[in-house]
Amino acid sequence: MGIHKVSVIGAGTMGNGIAQTFAQKGFQVTLFDVSPYAISQGLNAIENSLNRLVLKEKITTEAAQSAIDQIQSFDRLEKAVEKADLVIEAATENKVQKQQIFEDLDTFTLPHCILASNTSSIKISSLEQVTQRKGKVIGMHFFNPVPLMQLVEIIRTPDTSENVFQTIYSLAEQLDKVPVKVNDAPGFVANRILMPMINEAVKTLESGVAGVFEIDTVMRLGMAHPMGPLRLADYIGLDVCVAILEVLATELNQSQHKPAALLQDLVQQGCLGQKTGQGFYDYRQDPKHPTVHVLK
Ligand code: NAD
Repeated sequence: MGIHKVSVIGAGTMGNGIAQTFAQKGFQVTLFDVSPYAISQGLNAIENSLNRLVLKEKITTEAAQSAIDQIQSFDRLEKAVEKADLVIEAATENKVQKQQIFEDLDTFTLPHCILASNTSSIKISSLEQVTQRKGKVIGMHFFNPVPLMQLVEIIRTPDTSENVFQTIYSLAEQLDKVPVKVNDAPGFVANRILMPMINEAVKTLESGVAGVFEIDTVMRLGMAHPMGPLRLADYIGLDVCVAILEVLATELNQSQHKPAALLQDLVQQGCLGQKTGQGFYDYRQDPKHPTVHVLK
């Protein structure tokens, strides 16, 4: 099955990274978001990211321009996906909203089109069940920042066909990524393990065991993690972390995964991490060297 035209739904952190990654490999990409502001921000983010790659001499100016030329943005879903061979949904982590998107995609796409979700935690079968295209629904879970991170979890439901699985697995390799086959379960592998660790780091902070910087330093230097869990939470987005933890708590029926109160408070205050300038750290002065924001 040949994949040439790829549509990306959602132009936020992940959507714009996915669009850029495919465009750099010469795929024709269409990008849709319900928010026109998110589309313009997403296209800016792609341009900035490509410019940084040019400055670092990783790609040429011509390659950057040709990637930009490969991406077309749309403000109507039906137009964005009408010719797609593959749609990758990267909208907000909310099961009801994603189910609505999958229902619409099932209506608006060609019969051969594969529907993939970049969800961090929602079972792919719960999206598949609202469609009439069993066998052609799959999880393609990229990591942030998509153009740089190698891993892609490929999530197969019991109904995903072997042909579709092989197509998506090879496609990830074509993007120079490392695909890993994972079964369909809440949080898959990555977030089943990572999110409880982040939640525990927040609870450790809440209970006054150590400060933000100290917790992150212990995990960086003691466990050889490249980034401490609180800094990583800011990078992922605290709203995304809360959404994933809620899925884990509900779907696994394990109340210890309920998002820590401090995490929920920060989200309610609009401190969503690096993307809004403040989370556990404050990025407004110098995003590369943030200061501690949450003092406990
Ligand atoms: P984000 O908040 O940066 O972007 C989400 C975008 O989806 C927004 O621009 C929003 O306007 C748009 N959107 C909402 N409803 C929509 C709809 N019905 N149709 C089209 N667009 C819609 O979020 P993000 O961090 O990019 O996360 C997107 C998805 O990727 C989520 O499922 C998340 O769990 C997953 N994910 C996130 C990360 C991460 O590190 N942030 C990593 C892997 C996977």
